[in-house]
Amino acid sequence: MYARIIAIIALLLTTIGSAGAADVSDVRIGVHPGKTRMVIELSERVPYRFFTLQAPYRIVIDLPEVQWKIPETPRSPSGGVITSYRFGLFQAGNSRLVVDIDRPAKLANHVILPATKGHPYRLVLDLEPVTAAEFGQSERQFASKDWVDPPARSAIAPPPKAPADRKGLGPQKRIVVLDPGHGGPDPGAIGVSGLREKEITLQVAQKVKHALEATGRYKVHLTRNEDVFVPLRKRYQLAEAAGAELFISLHADSNGDSRLRGASIYTLSEKSSDREAAALAAKENRSDAIAGIDLSNQSDAVASFLIELRQRQTMNESALFSETLIKEVGTSTRLLRNTHRFAGFAVLKSPDVPSVLMELGYLSNRHDEKLLRSPRHHETLARSILRATEAFFERKERLSRS
Ligand SMILES: [Zn+2]
Repeated sequence: MYARIIAIIALLLTTIGSAGAADVSDVRIGVHPGKTRMVIELSERVPYRFFTLQAPYRIVIDLPEVQWKIPETPRSPSGGVITSYRFGLFQAGNSRLVVDIDRPAKLANHVILPATKGHPYRLVLDLEPVTAAEFGQSERQFASKDWVDPPARSAIAPPPKAPADRKGLGPQKRIVVLDPGHGGPDPGAIGVSGLREKEITLQVAQKVKHALEATGRYKVHLTRNEDVFVPLRKRYQLAEAAGAELFISLHADSNGDSRLRGASIYTLSEKSSDREAAALAAKENRSDAIAGIDLSNQSDAVASFLIELRQRQTMNESALFSETLIKEVGTSTRLLRNTHRFAGFAVLKSPDVPSVLMELGYLSNRHDEKLLRSPRHHETLARSILRATEAFFERKERLSRS
């Protein structure tokens, strides 16, 4: 009873929260002597904070959760130091705009102009080029330490909690974590007619969850259930925290060769099986950089020898699942040649949870993109993944008995 009341209150709060979010209605970029000005139009006065990142050079602007109503890409072709931007929900209560700059620059001025007749609130940001040395030395000076104009405490929600533990699940349910790739300010690959990778990975993951849970044998967690950014490391840590026995990361590829078609499966290896797999891993690993995460202090999770030993067993299981997945997906869906490949995908680096990454198809190919839009094809993929999961756990049980 109490749980139900709490659920209803939570639902009401969510509804109120999203209805009250400010709109970002326009972004304009203007080039002036010695500076590039970015004007962000807002339906209300909101707090903001900013910082710079390098390799590649970026300026990150954080806002409370807002509704984005702006073009996906800057409209003016010549944007001064600004080459592009991305935006989206970074975490609950926190939206993010990541601005790519083609050289080191500092945020020289920033102010919110009040709404006037015919103009909404405007966050005005002036970017001025600096030398690489200045940028490196005083990177911190180009950041706001805190939120500018701090909001009421409740306006910034704490980040979402990790999934619940095994308690109350019943003994025999297997825990599977599905990982819809990308999200928030990182759209992933963009299809020939505009389909975004982050959307279909989430749709397919929800279908797979439904198919697995309908058997009564699995409890399934998603690393994200909405259009929000989740760092790569956090994704497999969520799987570890949930006690997962299987982790499946879902993606869709894109390639300069628009004839390439088909799904493909990857498992972790520090040595890539081929150049294409290495390039793909590098592309997928850029996700954190795209969303404005500072990677300079992160050490490699597979660095230590002890972890490597534990990882060997996990890698064998990953390979076993990959085999069954290829077999089951191959009965209904086109596969790429040499479908099982190896590369250093950051999201597959859990030493404890068998993990595979599946590229569902090529968004750069017209036929694949059309398929990936189709709910019926999502259903087909979900059923294949279900069959593979069943076969994997059966084989694992057989191996452990023998
Ligand atoms: Zn991807």
